[in-house]
Amino acid sequence: MNQQKFQAVRGMNDILPNDTPAWAFLEETLRRWLNQYGYREVRSPVLEPTGLFIRSIGEVTDIVEKEMYTFVDGLNGESLTLRPEATASCVRLAVQHNLLYAGPQRLWYLGPMFRHERPQKGRYRQFHQCGAEALGFAGPDIDAELIVMTARLWEMLGLRDVTLEINSIGSLECRQQHRQKLIAYFEGHLDVLDEDAKRRLHSNPLRILDSKNPAMAAIIEGAPRLMDILDDASALHFEKLQILLRAAGLSYRINPRLVRGLDYYNATVFEWVTPLLGAQSTICGGGRYDGLVEQLGGKATPACGFAMGLERLLALLHELRTNPQPVIGPEVYVVHQGVGAQEAAFLIADAVRSAGHAAVLHCGGGNFKAQLKRADGCQAAYAFIVGEDEVRQHTVSIKPLRGQGPQQTLSLQQAIQLLK
Ligand code: ATP
Ligand code: MG
Repeated sequence: MNQQKFQAVRGMNDILPNDTPAWAFLEETLRRWLNQYGYREVRSPVLEPTGLFIRSIGEVTDIVEKEMYTFVDGLNGESLTLRPEATASCVRLAVQHNLLYAGPQRLWYLGPMFRHERPQKGRYRQFHQCGAEALGFAGPDIDAELIVMTARLWEMLGLRDVTLEINSIGSLECRQQHRQKLIAYFEGHLDVLDEDAKRRLHSNPLRILDSKNPAMAAIIEGAPRLMDILDDASALHFEKLQILLRAAGLSYRINPRLVRGLDYYNATVFEWVTPLLGAQSTICGGGRYDGLVEQLGGKATPACGFAMGLERLLALLHELRTNPQPVIGPEVYVVHQGVGAQEAAFLIADAVRSAGHAAVLHCGGGNFKAQLKRADGCQAAYAFIVGEDEVRQHTVSIKPLRGQGPQQTLSLQQAIQLLK
């Protein structure tokens, strides 16, 4: 036979049975939390027209320049892209279905995103984000709501060592002004700029501030700050946001270098960072994007949102050992041996499940000893034992596998009662 073994695509992870409980715990916590704040879930396709991302994220950004999985659909020639993020998808969805006619919307999503990056700890090519998008709210109260709610999530999850950084990148006009200053400044330091920075100097100089190249850290530090030329409206918005954050008891650091890697942001931007995950230090990022809805064909609508990386959150939970998810087995593992026992066991497992409990039926033979070893191995609470005596007497023997208690032989009904 011609055998071939396949591997998952590099940077795209399988999530195995021992890992899914932690994922399920996180996802359930997220649902409960988003529900508390009145956000409603949306699910959009993982494939979108390529233009949607180029138009929203921006042509001269890391994501669009080098991280998107873009391909031409060979069947109709359409250019498609696996979503690298979902804010654009959410806005596309809201505009397409006229959601905003009914008033402002609080939406959330959770799902896989795709970016062609160099895989390393905390950085994958398929990863998962949970994000919230508040569409149709202009005031700093919604920025504060989004930021404070993430702080409450960290509390719910028992996370420590996460800190909040905020900044305001102002209006489009003030960014334009800042842009000219940046170009002039960096032109005076051409010798220090790397290739990426030189290429972006005239197309997107703001992005240079985002660079992680240590050789450029010093000139970036000295670059003209947007904060110093902030327009009045953005400055007032930023001030009010801070009053609300302080009222909620949050501490934060103003980071004038925080610009975020996507073009659609304006005014408030923020990130939650941790020192515990090495180079991949950002677990959640967001901000305001007041121009995006209009840019994508909707009516001008202010908006604000964030996205968090689930792999990084799980890594942090693991690091802090606060993950409260022990492996939980089924309540019952049904073992059987002897004439008529297999069929009886099959029906007993079925009855246990009909009564609302979880039961695993032993399949594949073996003696009682081997079967009970399996029962123990899968962390079941009880073994239900069906031998020839039990078949004859229409009973089942119950053996508690965790903790105390004697083995007893009962009617099936009594046995199920015992589970309650
Ligand atoms: P980074 O600076 O680490 O590349 P980013 O600015 O590209 O992050 P965003 O686009 O703001 O990230 O995405 C929000 C969150 O999604 C990040 O804070 C991070 O937790 C997570 N994230 C982003 N890219 C990846 C990835 N390739 N693998 C795993 N998680 C990711
Ligand atoms: Mg990135």
